[in-house]
Amino acid sequence: MNKVTIIGAGPAGLYSAYLLTKNGIKVDIYDAMSGPCKKFLIAGSSGLNLTHSEPIDKFIQRYGKDANFFAALLESFNAENLRQWCQQLEVETFVGSSGRVFPTTMTAAQMLKSWREEIENTTLATFHFNHQFIGFQDKNSKKLLFKSETEERVIDSENSLFALGGASWKKTGSDGSWLNSFKELELSTRDFLPMNCGFTRSWSTKFQTDVDNSPLKNIVISFKDRSIRTECMLTPYGIEGTGIYALSNEIRDEIISKQRAQIQIDLRPDLSLEEIYKRLSKARGKNSISNFLRKSLKINKTEINLLRDILSKEEFEDLKTLGIKLKALPIELNGIRPMDEAISTSGGISMDEINQQLQLKKYPHLWICGEMLDWDAPTGGYLLQACFSMAHRASLSIIAKCHNP
Ligand SMILES: Cc1cc2nc3c(=O)[nH]c(=O)nc-3n(C[C@H](O)[C@H](O)[C@H](O)COP(=O)(O)OP(=O)(O)OC[C@H]3O[C@@H](n4cnc5c(N)ncnc54)[C@H](O)[C@@H]3O)c2cc1C
Repeated sequence: MNKVTIIGAGPAGLYSAYLLTKNGIKVDIYDAMSGPCKKFLIAGSSGLNLTHSEPIDKFIQRYGKDANFFAALLESFNAENLRQWCQQLEVETFVGSSGRVFPTTMTAAQMLKSWREEIENTTLATFHFNHQFIGFQDKNSKKLLFKSETEERVIDSENSLFALGGASWKKTGSDGSWLNSFKELELSTRDFLPMNCGFTRSWSTKFQTDVDNSPLKNIVISFKDRSIRTECMLTPYGIEGTGIYALSNEIRDEIISKQRAQIQIDLRPDLSLEEIYKRLSKARGKNSISNFLRKSLKINKTEINLLRDILSKEEFEDLKTLGIKLKALPIELNGIRPMDEAISTSGGISMDEINQQLQLKKYPHLWICGEMLDWDAPTGGYLLQACFSMAHRASLSIIAKCHNP
C-alpha cells in the first residue's frame, strides 16, 4: 500500500494528511467544501482553544465512559505533543489562566495556512474539494462514491481514513449526512444529538429584555449528582456557556425523557449559608433590598434580576429563604437549542465498532477519526485534542501497514 484516501479535511483528516505525507505516503483528500477545516476556522474566530494543560488523570475523565480509550490515545499524543507540533508549524502556544491552551499570536487561518503548506511541500497530497462522499458502492467498501458539481465518481480505495465530523454547524460542511452509508455497512450507530449546547427557559418578558447575554461568574452549577465550579451566560432564550456545556449531555437526556430539567446554581460558593445569614442579619437601614444585597454580599444587577425572576416577591424579601436560594437557586429548563448551533454532537458510529488503532473491526481497511465517532467531551480544548490524538493513532497504524504490507 502506498496510497491512502482521506475523506473529510477537518482537523482530524488534515492532521492525518500531515503525518502520512511526512512519512512518505501519498494521500488523496476529499472534502465536500471548497477548502479545509471550515469548522476549525469558526472555532478560531472566538479564541482557538487547542487543548488543556491539566494533569492527565483529570484530563482523561473529561471523556466520561470513554476515559480508558482516550487514556491510551493520549499516551502517544497528548497536550504537550500537540503543542510541540504547533511549534513545528511555527505556532507558539500559551496556557491561559483557566489552564486552557491557545495559540499566542497566530489565528486559526494562519495556523491552517502553515499546516497546509507543510502538507503541500511534500508533493504527496492531492486535494479534491467540492467532492461530497455519498456512500459505498457495495459492502466490500473499497469503492467510494463521490458527487461533485459536474459528476458522480467512483473511487477505488484499498485503504481509507474517514474524518467527516459530527452534525452541527452544517454551513461548515459537517452535516452528518454520511451516517446512513455507515448504517448500510451494518455498523452500530446512534442518531446525532446536540452536545455542548444551550437550553431554553421561559423567562419573564421583563427579564428577557433586561438580560442581554449577561454572564454569571464564579458559581457552582449542579445537576443531579454532578456539581461544577464554573461560569455561564444568561440569554434571552435561556442559558448557555462553559458550565452548562459541561453538563449538557445529562441535561439534554433529562429534557428528552421528561420535557424538563432542573439545575441549581450556587451564586456564592465561597460563603457558607451561616456566613450568608450573618451578613443578611445586619441592619438594612434605609437601603433598598437590592442595595443591601449589593453591599453585604456583592450581588450584582444580573444576579438581582435573576433572583427576582425565579423567586416570588415574598421569597425574595424573606431573607431566610433568600439565603437558602442564593446557595441553591433552582432553574427549570424546558428545551434544547437547535443542533445546528451546538459546538459538538453526540452520536455517530459506536466506539464499540473500532479497535485501539481506530480501524473498524469489521472493515480493517477503514479508519474512523474525530467527531464521527460516538464520544463526548466538554469544551476546554478536549474536543480538538481528541480529534488530533485519534488521527495520530490511526495514522501510525496506517504507516505501520504501509511499511509492513
Ligand atoms: C463555534 C465552535 C467553536 C468551537 N471551539 C472549539 C474550541 O475552542 N476547542 C475545541 O477543542 N473544539 C472546538 N470546537 C469543536 C471542534 O471544532 C470540532 O470538535 C472539530 O472541528 C471536529 O473535527 P473533525 O475533524 O472530527 O470534524 P470537522 O471539523 O467537522 O470536519 C469534518 C470535515 O468533513 C467534511 N465532510 C462532512 N461530510 C462530508 C461528506 N459527505 N463528503 C465530503 N466531506 C464531508 C466537512 O466539510 C469537514 O471539512 C468548536 C466548534 C464550534 C462549532
